[in-house]
Formats: sequence, C-alpha cells, structure tokens
Amino acid sequence: MAQKTENKLDFGSKWEYAAAPESADHASIMDEYGLYINGKFVKAEGGKKFASINPSNDQHIAYFAEASDNDVDKAVKAARKAYKEVWSVMPAKERAKYIFRIARLIQERAREFAVLESMDGGKPIRESRDIDIPLAANHFFYYAGWADKLEYAFPGKKIEPVGVAGQIIPWNFPLLMAAWKLAPALACGNTVVLKPAETTPLTAMKLAELIHDSGLPAGVVNVVTGAGATGAAIVNHPDVDKIAFTGSTGVGKIIQKAIAGTHKKATLELGGKAANIIFDDAPIDQAVEGIINGIFFNQGHVCCAGSRLFVQENVKDEVLRKLIDRMGSLIVGDPLDKNTDVGAINSKEQLNTINKYLKIGQEEGAEIYQPKCSLPNKGNWCPPTLFCETSQSHRIVQEEIFGPVLTVQTFRTVDEVIDKANNTPFGLSAGVWTDKGSKIFNLTTKLRAGVVWANTYNKFDPTSPFGGYKESGFGREGGLHGLLPYVNLV
Ligand code: ADP
Repeated sequence: MAQKTENKLDFGSKWEYAAAPESADHASIMDEYGLYINGKFVKAEGGKKFASINPSNDQHIAYFAEASDNDVDKAVKAARKAYKEVWSVMPAKERAKYIFRIARLIQERAREFAVLESMDGGKPIRESRDIDIPLAANHFFYYAGWADKLEYAFPGKKIEPVGVAGQIIPWNFPLLMAAWKLAPALACGNTVVLKPAETTPLTAMKLAELIHDSGLPAGVVNVVTGAGATGAAIVNHPDVDKIAFTGSTGVGKIIQKAIAGTHKKATLELGGKAANIIFDDAPIDQAVEGIINGIFFNQGHVCCAGSRLFVQENVKDEVLRKLIDRMGSLIVGDPLDKNTDVGAINSKEQLNTINKYLKIGQEEGAEIYQPKCSLPNKGNWCPPTLFCETSQSHRIVQEEIFGPVLTVQTFRTVDEVIDKANNTPFGLSAGVWTDKGSKIFNLTTKLRAGVVWANTYNKFDPTSPFGGYKESGFGREGGLHGLLPYVNLV
C-alpha cells in the first residue's frame, strides 16, 4: 500500500519557477540583411554594415546594411515614384486591402516576430507576445478600416495625402513603433521611407520581408537601416514631405532645427517623466500593481513610463511596504523565458546611462533600494530600483532615465501634487489612482500630459490618440487624431 504523505502546502519557503524558455527554433535569421528599396533587398553603397547584438547574452545576431546619403536618396526617389504613379492614385478601398493583408500576415507570423523582438531588444517574451506584436497587427487593422472612410474623419474637407513620409523610430518598441508610423501613413495614401533604430533593426527587416510577401507595390514602403547619420539623411532630404520621429528629446530638437523653414510637416514623440499619483482612497493593492507595471514594463524603456511616484503621505508606509514586497517577487532574466518579468537593458550605452543616474541619485542623497536578484553573467542588466527621499530638485526626478528606476515623493493635498507633477520639462503621460471620479476629472483637466490613465497604467489601443506636450513633443499617433499628420486638408 502506498505510503500516505501529508499534502500540506509550504507557504513559508520561497517558491521557484522552473525555467520555461520559448523555443527560438522556428525563427529564421539570415547572416546579413540588406536595405529594402523599391521592392528589392539591396546592399548598402560600398557594402557598409553593422552588427546587431542580443543584449541578454552579448551574442551576435546578424549584420545589417548601413545606408548612406545616396541609399536614402534612392529610397526617397522610389517612394516618390510609387506615390505619384501607384499609391496616391489607387482607389482607397484597394489600399485598405493591402493594409489588411499586412495585419493578417503579422498575426500569422506573430510567434516568430515575438521571439525575434525579444532576442534583438531584450524585452520579456510575455510582453512581445502579448503586447507588442498583437498591438502592431491591431494598428494595421485599425487604419486599414479608415483608408476608405477619410471623408468621415474630416467631413466637408478635400483630403489629400502629404506625399513621401520619412519615419524614424526608436529601439524600445521596434515593431510596434513601425506599425504606429506605417499604418496611418499608408491608409492616407502616403509612401514611406522608414528607419529602425541601430540596436533593433531585426523586426523592421522582417516586416519588410512580410510587406514584400503581401504584394504591396514596389516603393510604397522602403526600409533603410543605419544610425543617426542615416536618420539625418532622411530628415534633410529635400523631397521628403513629412518627418515622423519617435526618440529622445535631444534628437527631436536637432530634427526640429533641421526642418525649420522647409515645407516639411513633422510629428515628434519624445521623452517623458510621468507622475504616477496614488491617493489615500485608492485601491492600494491594485495601485501597487500599477506602479510596478508603470515603471518596470519593458525595463522602463518606455517614454510614458510612470517614473515619478507620488504617494499621499498617510499611505506612504503601506504603499512602500507592498511595493518593496512586490519588487522582490519580480523575475529578472532571460527575455525568452515565459516567467521573466524584467528583461535585459537594450544596449551597453543605455546601461551606462542608467548606471550614471544610479550614481547621481545616491550622490544627491536619495535612498536606493534594489531587491536581491541573481543577474546573468553576460549581457546588460539592471535590477528594479527604487529611490526614496527624493525631491523636485533632484536630477533623478527631473531627467528621463529610461530604465527600471522609480523615484518616490510624498504629497498632502491635491493642489500640491498637481504642481509637483507638472513641474518637469516633459508632458507625455500621467497616472491617477483614487476611488473618487471627481478627483480623476479634476486631475485629468489640470495635469499637463497628453495621456492620463486613471486606475490603470500603460494601456494602449489603436483607437486612442497618444502624444505629448512641452518637451515631450507634438502631434498625436493613434485614433482619428493619428490620421491628421498624414493628410493635407483643403
Ligand atoms: P535614444 O536616446 O532612445 O537612443 P535617439 O533619439 O538617439 O533615441 O534615437 C531614436 C532614433 O533616431 C534612432 O532610429 C536613431 O538612429 C535616430 N537618430 C539619432 N540621431 C539622429 C539624427 N541626428 N537625425 C535623425 N535621426 C537620428
């Protein structure tokens, strides 16, 4: 007879998750990728190339072509020809069919894209699988729907496309940002030259392959890889009609100067330093989840990250205790492991920037807390970090760190927290946690932020506009508002 064992659960000792890595076998990566110009994959002039590295283990992923000014010129010429001869004159409902097809192909290849996104960028597979890739497909679906209904978006107006759009995207949401940029541009009848960031070009080139498979006419979408110089060549090209840029405020300023006095339209989605505000009447457990999601989602490489926590003074102890507990349960490690909560820092340069701020914060007198976690030996890693005892004048409170670093301040009154929350050069997003609808409406009208989340954080939807005030940039992406930068209304 089998021996009877006591079936009691032991909640006292730490539970460990077994590793659950997503297989990368089904994802094909070529040794070398070219530029996608005029419907063809071509080498860069002079064969110049650069490597993309897996930030979680320092392994080489592939080489990518470094586009020169001449390569960019070829891409712009191809886009102009496709604009004049094909895309702008095609019936809108035909354009929509191509955009729908791209959306469906992304869904079909979602698993492969998710794996590649996590390998190239370091983000947890759970995020790329459940957020980045489905949202990218949804953006194409959403704007495909608008393509033949623009007269309802802008009633009574004569609607024309803008022409050739130069689109420059960052490394934190590589495929998603490509979708945010491409989908509305194509829906409105524009053609595009797109440049992904130099540390994450893989899914953009995979997207170029997918777009090629979709049968999109040659030259409608061109993808050029390279670093800042390639981006600058797009910005300065005289035959580009619109620049759409997402990236740092520093580069946003350079771009705005470069296009001043030209005919180019622009949208700039830049940095942020969002306030996440917890009132004493908030559901504290949910708020703590919201704080965690707000700052540690995608390692804090999120322009709208809730990086400044404001807690009402009388619940500070409870919030901090629960927050520290929850931080201790976050799993930091292999981005391809389905249990991972916090992945790798995207590049050595970004890790250096974050470490610089960790040092500055301590020198400024803030109290640092990091949970004990064993970090992999190779790759770029930063544990989730909390800075207590901070004030408005601290650099870690004022400047964007773009990493898993949260500063904590307290407040007593509504007016005080509004003043403090608005007291930064940025104005992209904010979060408010309270039981009272009236407080939410009061704050949403007074916070100078493009997006204000109430009792949630980092929620994205293609139907909802996103964009900033002040040094966070201008123009909106997503929703009906996201069509506006891609049309001329007469
Ligand atoms: P981050 O600080 O997040 O790395 P950047 O603003 O440097 O962001 O980069 C965002 C994108 O802008 C990348 O695709 C990058 O190659 C591009 N870029 C960098 N410098 C320039 C520039 N001077 N002109 C145009 N694009 C640029």
